[in-house]
Amino acid sequence: MAQTNANCPYHKICRRFLKSEKVGVPDGALREDLRYDMCYCEKCHNHRGDREVYPRGIPPTKYVLPLGWARFSLRILKHKLYSLAKDWHVAFHGTLVEKVVPILDAGMLLCPEDVILGGEELSQRPGHFDEHRKPSNFDTLQIFVSPSIKYVESRAYASPISWNDGGTRYQGRVAFQVWVRPGSYDVGPQTIGATDPIDPEFDNDKLEWFTKERPAVVLYGLLVKLDRQ
Ligand SMILES: [Zn+2]
Repeated sequence: MAQTNANCPYHKICRRFLKSEKVGVPDGALREDLRYDMCYCEKCHNHRGDREVYPRGIPPTKYVLPLGWARFSLRILKHKLYSLAKDWHVAFHGTLVEKVVPILDAGMLLCPEDVILGGEELSQRPGHFDEHRKPSNFDTLQIFVSPSIKYVESRAYASPISWNDGGTRYQGRVAFQVWVRPGSYDVGPQTIGATDPIDPEFDNDKLEWFTKERPAVVLYGLLVKLDRQ
């Protein structure tokens, strides 16, 4: 049988992780039609014979596939937004598992200090730059995404948590895949103190894209990566 999302065991386990109480994605938040999902596990990727890098958007910008991750299509996506996809850039936003449901509820990525549904303020994460600890002129109150899944995968963003699935232990990570309107964002360097190259496809000085224009960043997929412990 052909290797597809529908019968890939990794993709199934990743969906189970999203529905587990660790993440708590409610029924109805994901499309149930697996044709909209995509599995980038090694087996599925090799079976499709895809390249790893594609040009996307106008002007063309590198889109590097999130290899090793499984992607789930979000139901919040409005139909007309699909037509945008061909002209926009692709990026990733790594987050904590407990932020997934608040972000899905809001339907968009939020800036730090935005008030999310329910009234809780979205605080900035310890260890990251904030208004009191940052390089001069660096505005932290923006939406940050990255063209590099390898950057997003670092512990500072998609921080892993431990998950037990019927006796098998995994380290689970989550990230959102987004479309970003070309021209809406600025490009900056990595901010995690890395000295070695993080991603062979991107210069360390161009790993963060940031914008204050919330509608310029459209969520279209929820990514999961599970590693056996
Ligand atoms: Zn797969």
